Amino acid sequence: MRMSQAFIPTEKEAPKDAALPSHIYLTRAGFIAQVASGLYNLMPLGKRVLKKIEAIINEEMARAGAQEVDLSFVTPAELWEESGRIEKFGKELLRFRDRKENLFVLGPTHEEMMVNLVRNRVNSYKQLPLNLYQIKTKFRDEARPRFGLMRAREFVMKDGYSFHTSYEDLDREFDAMEAAYKRVLERLGLDFRIVEADSGAIGGSGSKELMVLADSGEDTLAVCDRCEYGANIEAARRSERTTIPEAPEADFNKFATPGIKSIEDLSGFFHVDPYYTLKAVAKRAIYEEGDEVVVFFLRGCDDLQEVKATNACGALDLVDVNEEELSALGLVPGFIGPLDLDAVRTIFDWDVKGAANMICGANEADFHYVGVDLSVLPEEAEYAALYEVKEGDGCPVCDGKLSYTKGIEVGHIFKLGTVYSAPLGAQFLNENGKAEPFVMGTYGMGVSRLIAAVIEQHHDEKGCVWTKTTAPYLVNLMISNIKDEAQVALAERLYEALQNAGVDVIMDDRKERFGFKAKDAELVGYPLTVIIGKELANGIVQFFDRAEDTKSDVPSDEALARIM
Ligand code: ATP
Ligand code: MG
Ligand code: MG
Ligand code: MG
Repeated sequence: MRMSQAFIPTEKEAPKDAALPSHIYLTRAGFIAQVASGLYNLMPLGKRVLKKIEAIINEEMARAGAQEVDLSFVTPAELWEESGRIEKFGKELLRFRDRKENLFVLGPTHEEMMVNLVRNRVNSYKQLPLNLYQIKTKFRDEARPRFGLMRAREFVMKDGYSFHTSYEDLDREFDAMEAAYKRVLERLGLDFRIVEADSGAIGGSGSKELMVLADSGEDTLAVCDRCEYGANIEAARRSERTTIPEAPEADFNKFATPGIKSIEDLSGFFHVDPYYTLKAVAKRAIYEEGDEVVVFFLRGCDDLQEVKATNACGALDLVDVNEEELSALGLVPGFIGPLDLDAVRTIFDWDVKGAANMICGANEADFHYVGVDLSVLPEEAEYAALYEVKEGDGCPVCDGKLSYTKGIEVGHIFKLGTVYSAPLGAQFLNENGKAEPFVMGTYGMGVSRLIAAVIEQHHDEKGCVWTKTTAPYLVNLMISNIKDEAQVALAERLYEALQNAGVDVIMDDRKERFGFKAKDAELVGYPLTVIIGKELANGIVQFFDRAEDTKSDVPSDEALARIM
């Protein structure tokens, strides 16, 4: 590219509302242009970076055997009604009607769409496993869009979904996707941690986030100084906010109302958000061997037989619970009694890992979940303390100590189980000819957010410092004085040779002063700028290394070899 022909509108002033380096520099250097709150245009440089990131993702997905698809952005609201997520997603979901008054949403994520694509097309275990992904615009009407590309309303996500016959096979794919995501971030040149995310605390590995380490990150992570262990402390912060209502009367009628749709609806009954309660059970923190626990499996739960079959939880001698009353309400008491923690963990490993999601995905007709009643509920303080990971604690994995650090969530991988396939009726025939819902995983990566994340980690007071794999151009050939024929001739020669060699090169052939061009080179952040100036008369050009912030003299006839 010749800069004289390029559209790279650099600016001296930062946008008024910009606080983050990525927001400031991406705007000032002409990568992005804001249209409205949370809406951005990508200009040529921004688009080039996006495509570089996409290419790396595509390569790693191909290597991992995932196939790229492209699903419609506008999605029928019916699918969201089927899964029960339409309400849960709230105002982030942008809804609208077409001319025939049909309701649609702009896809904020595509679980329903992908399940819809696969159901009735994949019918047999022989066609599984399957991993499909897309790189696609998403829309979320974020309450507080901010930080430029970091939290936009319209953004680009790589979203992948895998389909399996069993949880074991899901585990295998989940690990493979974690490895693939790790490679992507390594290739992008990012310093990152893979941490246990919210539901991770339940089963240990059900949900992980990929966090780019940066002070400006919105998430706080507890990371070990010795091993790779890390966890998002989001759960901690959430539990602090959870107010525990008065211990309720056992109001089973509440369940008779077909209005239980969200976690909030349950929390009144269960004193606290059952999600956390379950985590507590799984974490072993509250319950001791022998504590009494009641688990209710609500309407539509197919898993009860399995739970019973594992005989995990001791006798079903119900204490406070009137079984008839419950079953009249469509509830099935799961178990009560001396708790066998190992067994519970076994169950939770396959069940509750997805349970939090089930809550999210539940609708009234197919509410799979599980509450825990608790006479043994801890005090609020105790409860909050439980999730407060403190700096200096023992790493749960090794002898190391935990410390806090900030991270930007650039990826999130999740074991979904049958949370979407069951309500959407997406089934396959197993080896015995029996229909079963797909066991699923989901793998998201914030592609446009990654552009910002690279800059959050790689910038200085002068501007962007792109990594080699993300830079819009690797080499900038800067002609100091375009009236100098020798300078122009060398630049042209290098330009052609580099282009022929497939190196991304831009040539600053503008009729501008040296200082102006030099400032732009720093602001945009090309990894290498070759300054072709006065010293060329003595056979010397200068290499300006943006990351090192150093200039070095190089004999002009060695320049090409040194670049390659
Ligand atoms: P966050 O916690 O930052 O709101 P999320 O947990 O809601 O993100 P996911 O549903 O896990 O996001 O989506 C997968 C990925 O999409 C995220 O890991 C993130 O990188 C990206 N992403 C989510 N929301 C946005 C947004 N508003 N702008 C840019 N990227 C986003
Ligand atoms: Mg979000
Ligand atoms: Mg998140
Ligand atoms: Mg997430």
